[in-house]
Amino acid sequence: MGDSGLGEPRAEGMGRAWAADDADAMNIAIIGAGAAAVGLLDALDPALVETVTVFDPAPLPWRGRPYRPDLASVLVNAPPEIMSIRAGDRDHYAGWLDENVPGAYLDERLGRPVPPRAVYGEYLAETAETALARFPAARLVQEAVTGISLGERPVVETAGARYTADQVVLCVGGGTPRDLYGLTGVPGFVADPYPLEQTLATIPSGQDVIVLGSGLTAVDIVVSLAARGHTGRISLASRSGALPYVWQRPVETEIKHLTADRLRGPVTLGTLSDLIRRELAEHHEDWDDLAAAIAMPPDPVTALREQLALVDAPLRGRRILQETAHTLGPAVWRLLPEPDRRRLREDHFRTITGLASPMIPGNAAVLLELLDAGALELLSGMTGIEAGFRLGHATGTRAADVVINAVNPPPHAIPQRAEPLVTSLLAQGASRHLDGGLTVDTGHLVVAGRADPRLHVVGDLAGGGPFITSGIAGVAAQAHRTARSIQDRSGDESPDRSRMSVALRDA
Ligand SMILES: Cc1cc2nc3c(=O)[nH]c(=O)nc-3n(C[C@H](O)[C@H](O)[C@H](O)COP(=O)(O)OP(=O)(O)OC[C@H]3O[C@@H](n4cnc5c(N)ncnc54)[C@H](O)[C@@H]3O)c2cc1C
Repeated sequence: MGDSGLGEPRAEGMGRAWAADDADAMNIAIIGAGAAAVGLLDALDPALVETVTVFDPAPLPWRGRPYRPDLASVLVNAPPEIMSIRAGDRDHYAGWLDENVPGAYLDERLGRPVPPRAVYGEYLAETAETALARFPAARLVQEAVTGISLGERPVVETAGARYTADQVVLCVGGGTPRDLYGLTGVPGFVADPYPLEQTLATIPSGQDVIVLGSGLTAVDIVVSLAARGHTGRISLASRSGALPYVWQRPVETEIKHLTADRLRGPVTLGTLSDLIRRELAEHHEDWDDLAAAIAMPPDPVTALREQLALVDAPLRGRRILQETAHTLGPAVWRLLPEPDRRRLREDHFRTITGLASPMIPGNAAVLLELLDAGALELLSGMTGIEAGFRLGHATGTRAADVVINAVNPPPHAIPQRAEPLVTSLLAQGASRHLDGGLTVDTGHLVVAGRADPRLHVVGDLAGGGPFITSGIAGVAAQAHRTARSIQDRSGDESPDRSRMSVALRDA
């Protein structure tokens, strides 16, 4: 909707404030226009909200980092039923696909459409535009937010303007790949691979390429190089050399025991494993068999072949663990004692992230074909890489013309674009969470030790959650809870707001 939005700003001090700031109006500022913002806009009841202002400098809003226009080979990583941006409506995105691209993009092994991520971006954009049109006043400001002044009413600041709001939601997303080896600026090093349409266009087809990392981003890069007809050698280098697991065809899991209402009393890894055993027994499956199936063979190519063969396997155990990692994982994580969390982080990080976010079978099949043809190799035991490029790994060294970075950012990393904003919040009493991100309490930013009812965080900036990056389903659920929390405040409009102001003045 660009700057032709519905509301009109008016001058205030150095910048602007919303005209609709009379006593009864609920002004909401949303920082970041990615998937989290779309889920929030879709969930907000327009009858209770007067004005919405969304801030994001991205040239194309609503797509965030992952869903911008890119090559047709850059695909979504999950089936439609867990990519609905409307929490509680699993068919919302599947219905959009049926209506807009009927029958297209089928991954035959998965039995579900797996479109390019740019197509998912169109779904997000359309959902956002439809949602925005319901509000009496709405506007997109294509600027980065550099700070928030936490006075009686929060004031959102960009480089040249100020906007007063009643409720502010931070939806700034996560980090970008980390440059672990200090190669930024070295010719031939691609620090951030996306959009692949641009970064791969600079790589001549015959050059040897090393991809740092072997997770889902690395898979995107390999599949896209292959789709462009790359003829040089492609090497995936990482410490473990392991590839992600492969999605299994979705089936109804009918989970009975691994549910939030079973998490009573002290929760430990012991409690969790009892619940898993009970759940598996319900389906006549056994934990030890499942553990053996999860422990992939040491040779990643054999593992990939086995994983592809299991796409249709009828056993539900792995599907149950995968679903639970997203649905129950955040609640369990909050309740686990620190030694148990440390055990998960230190001993099981790779297995859990791989299980929670597998690759789609179509991509797995491309990788296997390239490995079998000798066009792709997996290098494990990576020790380092020097400009030039020469990489050390378990059995020797490997030289390449180009190095593409696919090292995952740490969980809850602060995106570069949000650093000034985070600095401003830290200066006013917000705090970093030990596990990354900012400290939040039930979705509210904690400022000077107290949850601020005017400030909400949706997405990876919220510290204290588990170490798996939220997928769309998790972000949509958080956005839905935030919309409810905002609406609860606006329910009895002015009195509640004056109570809120008093409480905050007292804080
Ligand atoms: C490459 C990739 C692929 C993925 N694929 C899938 C998938 O297929 N399926 C799935 O379920 N999940 C996937 N995920 C995870 C999921 O997409 C993300 O959880 C989701 O996009 C997060 O949405 P978000 O709005 O929190 O962040 P983002 O989508 O990243 O959006 C954040 C927005 O905030 C803006 N912003 C940041 N700082 C500021 C500031 N200071 N002022 C204003 N705006 C600011 C940014 O410009 C950006 O547009 C993927 C993640 C990545 C990184």
